[in-house]
Amino acid sequence: MATRSSDLCHSASSYERHVYQAAIQAWNATGHFKFVPGTTAHHQITLGTSNATSGQYYRLAGITFSTGYTNGYYTKAQVYLLTRNFVRYHYSYTDQVHVAEHELGHTIGLEHSRDRHSVMLADNRYNGISAADSAAVHLRYRLPVGRL
Ligand SMILES: [Zn+2]
Repeated sequence: MATRSSDLCHSASSYERHVYQAAIQAWNATGHFKFVPGTTAHHQITLGTSNATSGQYYRLAGITFSTGYTNGYYTKAQVYLLTRNFVRYHYSYTDQVHVAEHELGHTIGLEHSRDRHSVMLADNRYNGISAADSAAVHLRYRLPVGRL
């Protein structure tokens, strides 16, 4: 099974840490991908929060920057939950977990989906990880690295 190590920024509040932990548990429960705890010095995915609300962050609830690309897979990513926009647009705890699940989906190689039930729907707020999302991750990591 594919894994990525993640580290929660110390800047994240305990509330947002719970949001991330719930999203990690949801992906791990699919059985097709496992996020494992990293250390501050050594991890692949940094999970943080931002108060940004303008520019490229306008109306966004979360954003992921992927860096490092080896053999067709991202190897490093930074995820931000945009907490001020959560407040502004009245995101519930569950809505926030869905956003975190969506951003974590990007870190494991999923692009946006046009399936209106997918957690990877652009601007997703209300969908959790669906059976189709889980199957997509399974397929993503089923083949060895290389060209088809
Ligand atoms: Zn997205």
